Amino acid sequence: MALPSRGRGRSAQSLKTVESLVEAGLVPEASGLDAVAQKYAIAITPTIAALIDPSDPNDPIARQFVPELAELVTTPDERADPIGDLTHSPVEGIVHRYPDRVLLKAVHVCPVYCRFCFRREMVGPQGLGTLAPAAMDAAFAYIAAHEEIWEVILTGGDPLVLSPRRLSAIMERLADIAHVKVVRFHTRVPVVEPERVDSALIAALKASGKTTYLALHANHPRELTGAASGAIARLVDAGVVMLSQSVLLKGVNDDVETLAALMRGFVENRVKPYYLHHPDLAPGTSHFRIGIAEGQALVAALRGRISGLCQPTYILDIPGGHGKADIGASSIAANGDGCFSVRDFRGVEHRYPPEV
Ligand code: SF4
Repeated sequence: MALPSRGRGRSAQSLKTVESLVEAGLVPEASGLDAVAQKYAIAITPTIAALIDPSDPNDPIARQFVPELAELVTTPDERADPIGDLTHSPVEGIVHRYPDRVLLKAVHVCPVYCRFCFRREMVGPQGLGTLAPAAMDAAFAYIAAHEEIWEVILTGGDPLVLSPRRLSAIMERLADIAHVKVVRFHTRVPVVEPERVDSALIAALKASGKTTYLALHANHPRELTGAASGAIARLVDAGVVMLSQSVLLKGVNDDVETLAALMRGFVENRVKPYYLHHPDLAPGTSHFRIGIAEGQALVAALRGRISGLCQPTYILDIPGGHGKADIGASSIAANGDGCFSVRDFRGVEHRYPPEV
């Protein structure tokens, strides 16, 4: 069915209902998407809506944010908590999976709702909401009581939807915990709502004696607009160290040209490529998943094509809460004679140490 013409009734507000998506020309009328909207939250910011080309049925930005009927199909291997957050949650809002770091999930709201989200059963208006004051007190008490916690990762949801006042309050409490040295924010805000990154928000991300890292989630080079670059520059210039996180998504970035442009775009913006996630087994997301062997081939092709600065680590969160594993294909194998076979970036094998 043909889509309505672009921009009809385009709003300065985020699009949060099927009706608003129809009005904006992003889905056809009688799409049947109400059933999807009842299960999973929808939000598309004006910045992202403006990036979508509704005349392209395969638009990689639309694919990430515009709901599809395929989300109603849940496969047997999918699960509500694909990376096992609940298995490692000693108190509400905390996930303590690795010894030296915790997740602090202060809020379960996002400025956009990604159709492949690994926490889609927890985020959104019907999700777990914002931590109540008593739960927040218990979360900080847990962090203070565990001296092995070196890093606190604010995630959710997107922590940058919180006001500067609330972010400052969190950072002030972390500043009082001496063994916490690093605070990391996981966010999509600089890309999807770059105007939110103003001096008040940036000041709120910093605290005396702590180093602030920000892991930016973006999946396609078109997300790195001029406005996004401006927001990133304001953060980096203020001393925030930036990393990238991307998800390898069928129909969005599962080709080497797109991945190379994305990773180079990060580096050009002073964002160090960090993780390329294999998509998690979240309900209704099988249409986004490619095979791991395909992912390994793409990552190997990146090695031969772009600078070492631009290389992400290909990661799988092992279902059940067993943590992350580097799943990039190894370029070295034991020969069984005490030597190794090492593959170069062209795919050619070499013996190590070389024969003399
Ligand atoms: S921003 Fe992150 S938490 Fe929010 S919907 Fe997207 S993937 Fe999920």
